[in-house]
Amino acid sequence: MKYYSTNQEVPPVTFREAIFKGLPADNGLFMPESIPVLPSSFFEKISELTLPEIGFEVIRPFVLGEISDNELNEIIQSTLSFDIPLVKIKNGVYALELFHGPTLAFKDVGARFLAHALSHFTKKEEKKLTVLVATSGDTGSAVANGFHKVPGIEVIILYPSGKVSEFQEQQMTTLGGNITALELDGTFDDCQALVKQAFLDKELQASKNLTSANSINMARLLPQSVYYFYAWAQLSEQEKESAIFSVPSGNYGNLSAGLIAQLMGLPVKHFLACSNANDTVPMYLWNQKFEPKPSVATISNAMDVGNPSNFVRMLHLSENSYRTMISRITGYAYTDHSTLDAIRKTYALTGYILDPHGAVGYLGLSDYLKANEGTGIVLETAHPIKFRNTVEHQILREIPMPDHVLETKLEKKSIPFNFDYIQFKNFLLDL
Ligand SMILES: *Cc1c(COP(=O)(O)O)cnc(C)c1O
Repeated sequence: MKYYSTNQEVPPVTFREAIFKGLPADNGLFMPESIPVLPSSFFEKISELTLPEIGFEVIRPFVLGEISDNELNEIIQSTLSFDIPLVKIKNGVYALELFHGPTLAFKDVGARFLAHALSHFTKKEEKKLTVLVATSGDTGSAVANGFHKVPGIEVIILYPSGKVSEFQEQQMTTLGGNITALELDGTFDDCQALVKQAFLDKELQASKNLTSANSINMARLLPQSVYYFYAWAQLSEQEKESAIFSVPSGNYGNLSAGLIAQLMGLPVKHFLACSNANDTVPMYLWNQKFEPKPSVATISNAMDVGNPSNFVRMLHLSENSYRTMISRITGYAYTDHSTLDAIRKTYALTGYILDPHGAVGYLGLSDYLKANEGTGIVLETAHPIKFRNTVEHQILREIPMPDHVLETKLEKKSIPFNFDYIQFKNFLLDL
């Protein structure tokens, strides 16, 4: 499979090149040249397959000829080693819980797959791969955990001191080993500026094997298609005919992965693109105008994106046609006030504890089902404990701490840094 740039100004590349580069030189996004359709025999037996078995079948055509079946199997086993249960909220409405990984959000799936896929390609090389990431919190945690102890790869995380949550900081700074956290006396933008400058630095590029673990990397997107199949496989035969996926969205990677699953043959009846006040994509779906704007802070903060990068992928997956897109996707946007209301009411009526992101998806699904029939699946993208105060204030009880989080009371290790490129560059050269 070759990968083209959505700007079409550079030639198509292999899977390996697409994931090492992350972004094509013409500033487009990589996309597979064709979307493989899975055989009907796969769908007939899907309900008997495990999550890694489904993952293998879904990803195989995208890496064929570059990663052997044995090695792909190992990569998938290490990536999808936690469950993604489909939990019933009430009749006809389910939550697909994507938060049972180490950092309690769906980004674990993509970060882990990227780590193991990169490692697969660098294993045979002498030069170590250095992954640089600037983070405002969640990406750093997922990348740190996904890459921890992965052979042949060193990870440098830059985060703004005092501007990430305690939980996120703990996840980035306590692992040690091949993970180094630089605590910058500055903002997230400063962190990003240093990383960008490093990628433009010819001297550094010549002596180091640098790459980024950016969220628009193909290797973060592809494995996200897998859980749409896995969720569908768990529905009853009757429910399978009318599956509706409600996707709380920010940069629209998750939704793009769903569209890929549908084009691979997954019989999805409809998708719901649900956002908070950052409603650029829902607005487009309503009136065909794509008008990016500065992001607004909300309680579902992982979705605070005013100019979503993956919108271009959504277009390419919809034959570049507005009509095609709206025949597959309906947009919804909600205020923080409605989101809090949804957390409180859903708990009172069903006992299910939504996080603020899942609550936005739940609202979209409820509105859609007022006028349409179907079986709804809300993607629950984060564990409610990550937004403990907000959620507990609505449900008026404590959220139990997931077991695997309790144990990580390790010592924080970070290197204090100033916003100084020369210091940063020398640090990288000395690694
Ligand atoms: C990143 C994130 C989102 C947004 O996902 P996209 O793929 O960027 O649309 C939603 N919820 C949570 C909890 C996230 O971390």
